[in-house]
Amino acid sequence: MEVKIHLLGTASGIPTWNRYTESVAIEVGENIYLMDAGEPCSASMVRMGINYNKIRAVFISHMDADHFAGLPMLIQTMELSGKRGGVPLKIFLPPQACEKTRGYLRMMYLMDETLSFKLEMIPVKSGLMLEDDSICFSAHPNTHIKRRYQSRSDISVPTDSFSYSVTMPDKRRIVYTGDIGDVHDLDALVDGTDLLLAELAHVEPQDLLAYLAGKKVGKIVCLHIHPVWNDREKDILALSKQIFGKEIVIGQDGIKIVF
Ligand SMILES: [Zn+2]
Repeated sequence: MEVKIHLLGTASGIPTWNRYTESVAIEVGENIYLMDAGEPCSASMVRMGINYNKIRAVFISHMDADHFAGLPMLIQTMELSGKRGGVPLKIFLPPQACEKTRGYLRMMYLMDETLSFKLEMIPVKSGLMLEDDSICFSAHPNTHIKRRYQSRSDISVPTDSFSYSVTMPDKRRIVYTGDIGDVHDLDALVDGTDLLLAELAHVEPQDLLAYLAGKKVGKIVCLHIHPVWNDREKDILALSKQIFGKEIVIGQDGIKIVF
């Protein structure tokens, strides 16, 4: 079964001259699954000729705006296209974000009473989240937000953040790291991965590559590129050959990886 990975946005916390914020569309047959919804994911899909109405589910890794802010516009685009056909949209969110997101969308008139399709807000839990047409999605908590706020006793915020594992009907497995706190957040995830979509903002390329050198991982595609590495693809590729001994792919907006 052919799987297409469309890179809609490959920047980290801020867009750069050539990268939008994080969003990846996984297309399998007639279905598309969106991993994060950094803006402008809907515009990117229009430009790339991707039928956003085929999106069955959106998986938000955590609530930073570079992973979430494209969601309202995606929903509006689906609605105004008039071509959703009433198919519900599943939106997987950190648990404490579900009801607040409903309220936020309501402020933009994106609600059950006005939309021609249902928004199903589903709180992310550790473990198997969804089995859809024999494609299995599971969530794995990581320390991305916890680490950022661990020394901030003055503020109280939810600290949920997740990586996702996607197993195809033929058992090939994709891991989408989302944002991590440390490479060891991936300890239970990466061995045996056929395609790793790995972030490169909260881990230095050399540290990620050294970590992966001892793991059984197939293809590696780097996303969520920190601005300091934005125009230094050649440097990352050189590190990869030196440390890792094989080629990796540095993600670019607008490219499709057939897997
Ligand atoms: Zn991010």
